[in-house]
Amino acid sequence: MQRIQVKACGKINLSLDVKKRLENGYHQVEMVMQQILLHDDVAVRWFENQNGRVEIEVSTNRPYLPRDSRNLAYKAAHLMIRQYGEARSGKIRIDIKKRIPVAAGLAGGSSNGAAVLHALNQLWSLGLTVKDMCEMGSELGSDVPFSIMGQAKENPDLGLANDPLAAHCAVARGTGTDLEPIIGLKSHLVLTKPSIGVSTAEVYQGLALDKIEERPNTAELVAALAEKNYKIIQKNMINVLENFTLTRYPNVMYTKNKVERLFNEEAVLMSGSGPTIFALCRNRGEAQRAYEELKAYNKETFWTRTTY
Ligand code: ATP
Repeated sequence: MQRIQVKACGKINLSLDVKKRLENGYHQVEMVMQQILLHDDVAVRWFENQNGRVEIEVSTNRPYLPRDSRNLAYKAAHLMIRQYGEARSGKIRIDIKKRIPVAAGLAGGSSNGAAVLHALNQLWSLGLTVKDMCEMGSELGSDVPFSIMGQAKENPDLGLANDPLAAHCAVARGTGTDLEPIIGLKSHLVLTKPSIGVSTAEVYQGLALDKIEERPNTAELVAALAEKNYKIIQKNMINVLENFTLTRYPNVMYTKNKVERLFNEEAVLMSGSGPTIFALCRNRGEAQRAYEELKAYNKETFWTRTTY
C-alpha cells in the first residue's frame, strides 16, 4: 500500500468580474484568485490487488457530504481511472479531513478534487505536469485548475513546486480555467461564513450584467500586488457577484456590514459567489481581535493567512 497526503488549500477571490454570458450557459470571467492556508487534508491510498478493476472508496469527517460519484474527490479519481486506469487493478481509498466550510465560495470541493489528481499522479508515477492536470481538472469544475496550481506550490513533496504553472496566486480568465500565475498577496485574514449555503449557479443566473456599476481593474490590481501597494489592492477588491448575494440573502448583508464596521470599511469582500466574507488584516493583532469578535457571533469563523 502506498499513501500520499495533500494539503488541499482553499482560495479567496481578491477580485471577480463577469464579462459576458456565453451561449453554452457559462460565463466569461476575469478574476484574481489567491490561495489561503485554511485547508482540508486529503489522504489517498492505493492498494493493488488482482480483482481486475479499480474501486474507489471515500470517507470524510462531514457526514452530510456525499461519498459517492457526487463527491468531487470521487469524480477526480474516476476521471483518472478513465484516462490512466485501464491496465490497473486495486482500490483507491480517499480520506478527507475537512476544515474548509462547504458551499462557501472558498473552492473546498474543488481543492479535494485537485488533491486526488495530484495524489494519483504520484501513486501511479504518471509524470503529469501542472498543465496536464489543469486540462483534466477543468472537466471537474472551473476552480479545480487553480487548486492544482496552488497545491503544486504548497506541497513541495509532490515534486511540482518549480513547475512553470505552480503558483499561489493567478489571474483567471475565460470560464475561469485560463490561468496566468502572478505575484500574490502576503496577508493575515479573517473569514466568516454565514450559516447558509449559496448556489453558485443561482448567483450567476441572477446577475444582471447590464446593471453592474463598479468593476475591478485587473491590470491595476496585478501591478499593485507586485508593488505591494495595499491602497490600490484595496481599491480593486471588487466582486460583481456581491450585490446579488447580499440582496438575496440578508444574513450575508448583515455579516458584511458587521465585518466592515470592524475594519473601518477597508479590504472586506465576499469570496466567489459567497456567502463567505473575508477581511485582509494589517497584522496578527488586528486578525486576532477580529477573529475573537466574529467567532463569538458566528461559529464558522477562521483566522488564516494567504499562502506565499
Ligand atoms: P466554489 O468556490 O468552487 O464554487 P464552494 O466553496 O462554493 O466552491 P464547495 O465546498 O466546493 O463549494 O461545495 C459545493 C457543493 O459541492 C456542495 O453542495 C457539496 O455537497 C458538493 N461537494 C462535492 N464534493 C465535495 C467535497 N469533497 N467537499 C465539499 N463539497 C463537496
